[in-house]
Amino acid sequence: MKFYTDIHVHTISSGHAYSTILENITFAEKSGLKILGITDHSDFLPGGAHIFHFSNLKIVPRKVNDLIILRGMEANVMDYEGNIDINEEYALKSLDYVIASFHPPCIEFCEDKSTVTKGIIGAMHNPWVKVIGHPGDNRYPFNAEEVVKASKQTGVILEINDASFKPTSVRPGVKENLIEVLKYCNKYDMPIMANTDAHICWEVGEFSCSIAFLEEINFPKELILNLYPEKLLDALGISI
Ligand SMILES: [Zn+2]
Ligand SMILES: [Zn+2]
Repeated sequence: MKFYTDIHVHTISSGHAYSTILENITFAEKSGLKILGITDHSDFLPGGAHIFHFSNLKIVPRKVNDLIILRGMEANVMDYEGNIDINEEYALKSLDYVIASFHPPCIEFCEDKSTVTKGIIGAMHNPWVKVIGHPGDNRYPFNAEEVVKASKQTGVILEINDASFKPTSVRPGVKENLIEVLKYCNKYDMPIMANTDAHICWEVGEFSCSIAFLEEINFPKELILNLYPEKLLDALGISI
């Protein structure tokens, strides 16, 4: 399998990532990507980008050679109602999409599945949110069937996060939890997308863990948006 999209990638604007947009573009082109999405951390995460970073993303070219560049944000889910840490319309309007993720220290870990499920579904109902970032972390457990049904209802896509599979990941239990999630995605015919969550340019477009995982569980190709760039843009409601 060859993936053509990677829409969760960080730059030096995230504070703890190490590459520029240009470096990420260089590696995206080398990996044969057709769509690259820049999604730095919003500012409640220590070191995250200032709100002006997001409102000014409009100056980033839409296309570099044949590569489409999307403008995004990885926002923090701040509570178990699903609120995110950015409300300024002028900044959000500059963006193509928002990824909502659970990150310490922005939100406390919670053992109660129904509480976390409510938080995820709450975030899915935020009209700016199009993707739930790195679900499947044992520290934020949820009811897989309820979340997948909400994904189907809202159109918000659940992410397979390549970084979560790596030995450097701090997220326990991801593989086992995602097997359960993808079982329901298959049952309810709901597409997913994989992203690298690259924090340095060498990781951009490098999907070996996600591809091995999806092949291992024999997940249907027609539900993997990375294989269909046009379908991915449609799912995000983006026309370029
Ligand atoms: Zn994240
Ligand atoms: Zn990220």
